[in-house]
Amino acid sequence: MQKIDNYSFANKKAIVRVDFNVPLDKKTFVVTDETRIRGALKTINRIIGNGGAAILMSHLGRPDGKVQEKYSLKHVVPAIEKNLGIKIKFAPDCIGEEAQKLASELKSGEVLLLENLRYYEEEEGKVYSLPEDATDEQKKEAKAKLKESQKTFLKKLASFADCYVNDAFGTAHRAHASTSLIVQHFPNDSMFGYLIESELMAMDKVLHSNEKPLTAIMGGAKVSDKILLIENLLNRVDNLIIGGGMTYTFIKAQGGKIGKSLCEEDKLELALELLKKAKEKGVKVYLPVDAINADAFDANANTQSLKIDQTPDGWMGLDIAAETIKIFSDVIENSKTILWNGPMGVFEMEKFSKGTTAIALAVAKATEKGAYSLVGGGDSVAAVNKLNLADKISYVSTGGGAMLEYMEGKELPGIKAIRG
Ligand code: AMP
Repeated sequence: MQKIDNYSFANKKAIVRVDFNVPLDKKTFVVTDETRIRGALKTINRIIGNGGAAILMSHLGRPDGKVQEKYSLKHVVPAIEKNLGIKIKFAPDCIGEEAQKLASELKSGEVLLLENLRYYEEEEGKVYSLPEDATDEQKKEAKAKLKESQKTFLKKLASFADCYVNDAFGTAHRAHASTSLIVQHFPNDSMFGYLIESELMAMDKVLHSNEKPLTAIMGGAKVSDKILLIENLLNRVDNLIIGGGMTYTFIKAQGGKIGKSLCEEDKLELALELLKKAKEKGVKVYLPVDAINADAFDANANTQSLKIDQTPDGWMGLDIAAETIKIFSDVIENSKTILWNGPMGVFEMEKFSKGTTAIALAVAKATEKGAYSLVGGGDSVAAVNKLNLADKISYVSTGGGAMLEYMEGKELPGIKAIRG
């Protein structure tokens, strides 16, 4: 495995898997959030600044193996040019003659962007084009055929370059052509870009931290999405703070009244099991003690603050309340390492955003006092950004699903392919 910092790109072409799956305005197709483009700049600049040329490849949206104008990466070109400060070239097909020509003519210091990889079924290795009533035999046949054509697809992509850089953390948990399979064509010339390097460093720092107490804050809607993460963290953390919708499965499992709060009836036993495991492992679990209850899932609902296990019939808990905020903030501010994944309430609605805001502020405060903090998962990241606190957190992860899987202890195909 090569390191991007040590690798010489002089007179070489690097094919770089970036994550330019950015949101576009539905009418104008202008990029509405350039975070992911900015995230790739350091890697691209290192390659071209070192005398190399960069061939960028990405997916955008879910075109399901078909060419669809609205998912064209050409829409992203102006935003890349603005951020890089140079003009770039665009190949209107990620493989084929024109891409081949543009790639072979690319000079040191230049950048070429290839069209959406997912216009081809070969990228995901998933057959989209079969009729719904296809027989198992037909499905098997189509899959085998696709596997063969995927080899040609990979060969073509790999032929453009001398080395491969993966900097698309958001898709590192997928075993796709451009994220993991392509590595076999660059056995001695594959490496991570700076974004993946820093994501790995941040996650490893938390998972293997000796800076105690280590506190994990879990929020969001469902326990079922976070079971594996919680289980893996129980082996590592000192404190486990639970908030958000998943709270109520734990509260009901312990005999509390939860009204019509979110609850996964089939996970009640599991919730008790997790609490038992935590106790056995000496992990302190903090569940909310009070909540902001609402009489409807609505931004203008009537609200009242009540004890967590006394939600009246017809009401639901949509945020943590004052006493909980105080207890959670104390634990967080006395921690040395912090992982936060998932909001404490329905933070999209102003009335139910105070808990998430308070937790974000507590994490920022702890960080200021010297703790290491990692925030990941789409919604907690959105909350941190909304509050302009990103630069007060040690690391804000860019990959929701990928981060979750890595923290669960799974091997990500895009990481394993390079790291081995
Ligand atoms: P997740 O994607 O699992 O992190 O869940 C995030 C979603 O959980 C957000 O859209 C929140 O609005 C929602 N959420 C957080 N707390 C609650 C709650 N008490 N009841 C219902 N939804 C919630």
